[in-house]
Amino acid sequence: MDCEVLIVGAGIHGAAVAQAAAAAGYRTLLLEQYAQPAQGTSSKSSKLIHGGLRYLESGQFRLVRECLVERSRLLHNAPHLVELKPFFIPVYADTHRRAWQIRAGLALYTLLGGKRFATLPRAQWARLDGLRTAGLQSVFRYHDAQTDDAALTRAVCASAVSLGAEIRYRHTFVQAHCDDNGCRVRYRHQDKTGELDTAVLINAAGAWVNAVLQDIEPAPARLNVDMVQGTHIVIPGSLQQGIYYMEAPSDRRAIFAMPWQDNIMIGTTESLFRGDPAQVRPLQEEIDYLLGVHNHYFEQRADASDVSEAFAGLRILPHSEGRAFHRSRDTLLHLDRTRCPRVLSIYGGKLTSHRITAERVIAKIRPLLPRRTARADTRTLRLPA
Ligand SMILES: Cc1cc2nc3c(=O)[nH]c(=O)nc-3n(C[C@H](O)[C@H](O)[C@H](O)COP(=O)(O)OP(=O)(O)OC[C@H]3O[C@@H](n4cnc5c(N)ncnc54)[C@H](O)[C@@H]3O)c2cc1C
Repeated sequence: MDCEVLIVGAGIHGAAVAQAAAAAGYRTLLLEQYAQPAQGTSSKSSKLIHGGLRYLESGQFRLVRECLVERSRLLHNAPHLVELKPFFIPVYADTHRRAWQIRAGLALYTLLGGKRFATLPRAQWARLDGLRTAGLQSVFRYHDAQTDDAALTRAVCASAVSLGAEIRYRHTFVQAHCDDNGCRVRYRHQDKTGELDTAVLINAAGAWVNAVLQDIEPAPARLNVDMVQGTHIVIPGSLQQGIYYMEAPSDRRAIFAMPWQDNIMIGTTESLFRGDPAQVRPLQEEIDYLLGVHNHYFEQRADASDVSEAFAGLRILPHSEGRAFHRSRDTLLHLDRTRCPRVLSIYGGKLTSHRITAERVIAKIRPLLPRRTARADTRTLRLPA
């Protein structure tokens, strides 16, 4: 065997599985099609390390609790990458979510592991980075964390390597043939193909998850999922006080305005995407929608000519006819025990919960692997700078 755990995809999940597998003592190899990690969704997220206040509305309490625990761990293990920030929720006369609802949500969030929240005295509203005060009735302040998603992914990759994992960039998974003992994986590297034997194959290919499964024999069942694109825009300006959590006037979705690299980043949207994940691009209507939300809330207006950057990432959500906004954000670990028990696929998930997701992956594959002595505990492992 060339390795015991072979992972496809160096996004946050592939990186975290490589880290957890190496920490558990397994010979670990990660293949990534691009020249660097985090070229998929893991550099196009909202960059928040959070419990997800809005997931309380859809009753995802366990997810929120778990993400808040992981947020604490990341604040401790990667203080150079994850920073606690004040978040402000303004409530206007025409805001759909009323102050009492937000107060109840924040109280529950605190109970599940968040920090204490407060209402901001009226005298302090003028300091809120040009937030419109006409019609403003109250402003809540709570805390969550922000990161640089690509830098976080790189740090988890570096941690995996320091524990003995190997990462090969510009290596594209092409095909695998699996039996009861393991998988023979074919990859492409600089127009050449090669083969590797592994005991277990982890499919952490993000939006390409089903494309990878399609090239595995015997064919494992694939989950019926939708790809939903989320766009962010970057405009000039500065948000000195923190992050603003706004309700889009047209459809009441939660939109964030965040300080980002000395500018303002606004996101996100949800548009169904069909096609090659490598081709996902922001749509003009998404850019207009985000500018509309910004201009509704801030005195300083921005137009299309102010957008210095726009990027789109893909969420993998369970298929349904309903709006993406209310669908489960839980990570699904899929293993077709009858047809292909040596392949485990990661569907969806959150940047925030990458570590616990990876540990769950290891717990699932452990029975298929030889006994090994652990080298580290990811709960307390500091991430490199
Ligand atoms: C718009 C948006 C905002 C989000 N905001 C947040 C947030 O604020 N906080 C949060 O916690 N979560 C957030 N999420 C969720 C989070 O970003 C994702 O769950 C996470 O980044 C997915 O990581 P991944 O590793 O599964 O996929 P990806 O990052 O897409 O990585 C998959 C990797 O697999 C590689 N790959 C694919 N096919 C092959 C192949 N054949 N061979 C080799 N390599 C291959 C790709 O090149 C890629 O590098 C957001 C998601 C979206 C879409």
